[in-house]
Amino acid sequence: MQRVTILGSTGSIGVSTLDVLSRHRDRFELYALSASSRWEPLAEQCLEHQPRYAVMVDQVSAQKLRERLAEAGSKVEVLSGSEALLEVAGGTEVDVVMAAIVGAAGLLPTFAAVEAGKRVLLANKEVLVMAGGLFMQTARRAGAGILPIDSEHNAIFQCLPLAAPLAAGLDLTALGVRKIILTASGGPFRNHSSESLADVTPAEACAHPNWSMGPKISVDSASMMNKGLEFIEACWLFNARPDELEVLIHPQSVIHSLVEYVDGSVLAQLGNPDMRTPIAHALGLPERLQSGVERLDLVASARLDFEAPDLSRFPCLALAMQAAQQGQTAPAALNAANEEAVAAFLAQQLSFTDIPRVISKVLERVDFTEPRDLAVVQHADAEARREAQRLIARLGCRT
Ligand code: NAD
Ligand code: MG
Repeated sequence: MQRVTILGSTGSIGVSTLDVLSRHRDRFELYALSASSRWEPLAEQCLEHQPRYAVMVDQVSAQKLRERLAEAGSKVEVLSGSEALLEVAGGTEVDVVMAAIVGAAGLLPTFAAVEAGKRVLLANKEVLVMAGGLFMQTARRAGAGILPIDSEHNAIFQCLPLAAPLAAGLDLTALGVRKIILTASGGPFRNHSSESLADVTPAEACAHPNWSMGPKISVDSASMMNKGLEFIEACWLFNARPDELEVLIHPQSVIHSLVEYVDGSVLAQLGNPDMRTPIAHALGLPERLQSGVERLDLVASARLDFEAPDLSRFPCLALAMQAAQQGQTAPAALNAANEEAVAAFLAQQLSFTDIPRVISKVLERVDFTEPRDLAVVQHADAEARREAQRLIARLGCRT
């Protein structure tokens, strides 16, 4: 029996993880579920899945959750506050941690799991963008297992030789890898003109053609910042230089990414766009587990299209690639500015095309340093957020 903690269990990845786990109750036991402040969905999950602990970051919501569970006669113990998240991520009784909090909020709990040497299923890509070097170093030192959940990175991982332990640091040249090719659907605005992008709404941005995801990553997909974050994520996970990576638009999201070898072989992983596949892969490795995902029907898909990304219509992707080149705290600043700009766009305080404007100005104005420890990363994050908020307040007046 492996004991599992899900950080961010009420989100899109959290729900898919519970779905896969519930198909394998003979192998996995739920240790803890966690959410930020919405207690009703967490109450339902607790009643259905009976974890040992439920962590609600917000204290008031935690109290409501406690009362609701007590009424229902549940034995689940409710903990609250961000310290509790660290405990359920790094506790000695935990074997597997699904890191599925969205954004920088996941930094410390995910690090707690890595420091404690857990098998970490990493969905929370922002952690690697902010502090990828420290993350991989910590994993190596603590003997943590890192398994990518992001569908592209999971696909790449599957196309690399089996048993390539990511935390040890891959040698792509020794493995004969020439290029890693990240596919991107292009999002809901793939065919929009630059002019029409200025007027798109949050609802339109969140209506992804192939995937159903949380609001932040949906906006990132629409701006292609998601691919930019994934570009940086891939550099750290696979020990790749930016010039060893390529981005390819593939609107059907059937090929989840590819690895090109020096002999001309190109390996790809295919499947329906359903996150339960990478989740089941990472939970089961080296075995394959049932995931509930429908079989891929290639005859019904009929065609697979490819095109090059358009960096001028989607400047967020270019900004992220540039931050990957710059290194130091540039990716952390990029991530922080993006989180602020996306939150402002979702709150209708900023236009869609102002998202890259804010990020690019933040990157011009803040200094980058070597992220020696998490305090440096957190400082860069806070500084970039302050600068982004100042710019948003100015630009926001126009919308
Ligand atoms: P979501 O918005 O649906 O869920 C986020 C979860 O995090 C919720 O459970 C929420 O309660 C929790 N949370 C939010 N803020 C928090 C805070 N301050 N402290 C503690 N918990 C907090 O997001 P999602 O779509 O499930 O994405 C989660 C992560 O996985 C993101 O980093 C995203 O980029 C990544 N990811 C998601 C998908 C997908 O298909 N949804 C695919 C690949 C990668
Ligand atoms: Mg992805």
